Amino acid sequence: MKPVTVLQHPLVQNFLAEIRDAQASRATVRHHLRALAILLFSEATRDLPTASARVTTPLAETDGACVSAAVGLVPILRAGLGMVDGILEMLPAAKVYHLGIFRDEQTLEPVEYYNKLGQHTPVDVAFILDPMLATGGSAVAAVTRLKSWGVKQIKFLGIFAAPEGVQKLTAAHPDLEIYVCAMDQKLNNRGYIVPGFGDAGDRQFSGD
Ligand code: URA
Repeated sequence: MKPVTVLQHPLVQNFLAEIRDAQASRATVRHHLRALAILLFSEATRDLPTASARVTTPLAETDGACVSAAVGLVPILRAGLGMVDGILEMLPAAKVYHLGIFRDEQTLEPVEYYNKLGQHTPVDVAFILDPMLATGGSAVAAVTRLKSWGVKQIKFLGIFAAPEGVQKLTAAHPDLEIYVCAMDQKLNNRGYIVPGFGDAGDRQFSGD
């Protein structure tokens, strides 16, 4: 089983503390999720393959290295959307494949409602983007989908995780790399992460 990476960085702690605050504005939440996603992506891409390239500067020729893997970002709708744009600034060549999975509020089981992966050639490395690794149901379903699509290397990037979700995800997919900003205490009886920061979709998009 791969170890779970929990980012240890003062900037991460600072962003987390600010978005946990129930009074934080939607603008703050969006900004900080975007920044946290960049920090996660930078940690999770340390092993991306590169190919050497000759570059001509205004002064001389020199050696460079360019990312050579086909990278796919897979935001889980809708909360994962807020993690996409910042990462695309880091790697504009990445492709984006939206995956619609919602959690049935009665059973807490994942329900897939949007998936067009089959229309495309599988990427070399896929990064699943979902701020909340709660019960783990959606994440397990997303990894299963990506594997059946044919992706060989899959990484999960989340902001908050509950131990229950991590356990379920690693049990189902021991080969998965997981990167999160915070490992929280537990889930409540509605499947929300405690302390967490509430409903990630509402806090970014449509909450009152
Ligand atoms: N989804 C959310 O948006 N928040 C949680 O705490 C758990 C799942």
